[in-house]
Amino acid sequence: MIKLKSASEIEKLREAALVVSRTLGMLAKEIKPGVKPVDLDRMAEDYIRQQGAEPGFKGLYGCPSTLLISKNETVVHGLPTDIPLQEGDVVSIDCGSILNGYYGDHAYTFEVGEVDPAVKKLLEVTKESLYLGIEAFRAGNRLGDIGFAIQKHAESHGYGVVRELVGHGIGTKLHEDPQVPNYGKPGKGKMLKNGLVLAIEPMITMGTYRVKQLSDGWTINTVDGKPAAHFEHDVALVDGEPQILSTYDYIYEALGINPDD
Ligand code: MG
Ligand code: MG
Repeated sequence: MIKLKSASEIEKLREAALVVSRTLGMLAKEIKPGVKPVDLDRMAEDYIRQQGAEPGFKGLYGCPSTLLISKNETVVHGLPTDIPLQEGDVVSIDCGSILNGYYGDHAYTFEVGEVDPAVKKLLEVTKESLYLGIEAFRAGNRLGDIGFAIQKHAESHGYGVVRELVGHGIGTKLHEDPQVPNYGKPGKGKMLKNGLVLAIEPMITMGTYRVKQLSDGWTINTVDGKPAAHFEHDVALVDGEPQILSTYDYIYEALGINPDD
């Protein structure tokens, strides 16, 4: 069942999303060769609690960590390890929060030092596909329009669109209806209505879109071992238009990036 949110609920979701945004911004400064994912996880938990919130993933479905840290061929749901990050890695950091009973859930794929230009391109196109999906999240459109926009852009670059994992509604539960596939047909699926709040999260691969889960029950890797990228925003439909509740501004500020360049 889809739960549409009131304006005050959307504000609570924005506050929770911004806890995650600030946490990703803090982490952006720490991500470099030699850093251990477990240390990033500890820093993130402390920083979320300092903001008066709680980690959103830890303990949910048995998740042992605050962050899901997915390196290179890991698409999503990588558990933080003590294996240091290396020059050239790309690492998706997915972070959740709960504040006043509402969830934030968003993600960014970071570059560790100098990254192969072909992999950089994968990250760039995945982020573009996220924003194209968000653009399609508007009144008059249907759910399939979001997935179609993402898929069209990713596949036009020869990339794969992961099928098994999808975006989702978000609210007082981390995963609410509807599921938001990153593929789809235009004009198909449920009508998009004001008050709908979605976590839109393309997971795009450099080779095949096929993935496998490792025996830890969490880690999702590409079957061909090629890299993947993952970007996620929390977005509300307000007055017919998408309103992004989370932000990458803290990350851009930390990295000294101008996103419009
Ligand atoms: Mg997430
Ligand atoms: Mg999510």
